[in-house]
Amino acid sequence: MGKTQSMNFVKEVSQVLGGEGVNLCMQCGTCTASCPSAHIWEYTPSEIIAMVRAEMRDEVLSSSSMWCCLSCYSCTVRCPRDVEPTNLFHALESLAVKHGYKPKNTSTPVMYKNFVKSIKKNGRVSEFQMMMGYYMSTNPFAALGMISVAWNLLSHGRMPLSAKKIKGKKDLDKIIKKLNEVRGAQ
Ligand code: SF4
Ligand code: SF4
Repeated sequence: MGKTQSMNFVKEVSQVLGGEGVNLCMQCGTCTASCPSAHIWEYTPSEIIAMVRAEMRDEVLSSSSMWCCLSCYSCTVRCPRDVEPTNLFHALESLAVKHGYKPKNTSTPVMYKNFVKSIKKNGRVSEFQMMMGYYMSTNPFAALGMISVAWNLLSHGRMPLSAKKIKGKKDLDKIIKKLNEVRGAQ
């Protein structure tokens, strides 16, 4: 059992960046009522927070729920207790990845991975490279269904095939290196 796994789950969540407000939740349900994607969550936003508070580590971290968050911030704006649920759900995603949980019925982590890969390579997102990486890692045949959309974007110059690196790429590399050092030390 790892150091963090022997730790009380709610305490661990509260120590992750974004998870600090978990103990402030009063289960009013406003986040769930405000959430445009709540109908596809395995457990609703307020249920997931209640489950963290109930120490349901495995159920929370293996759930696809937080991966359905669209980062619209409606819940964060409306939460009466400043829990910042959006950041909390992203904190749960980080914990799930850190502890090797694979969410069921969602390929969102693969999308995130390819997004970050593209940023690390170019300093900006290349939609073409990101989506190609995503389809190659999930279902290459699904890309065939997107050919007409891709062609429209390409022909209107809205999705270049190659990405131009940003000017401050070396500075970005230093920031990412520092970030990885800080995370490695945690
Ligand atoms: S809106 Fe805030 S206080 Fe209410 S259930 Fe959601 S997180 Fe908890
Ligand atoms: S930020 Fe995420 S959890 Fe909050 S309302 Fe939007 S989609 Fe739902």
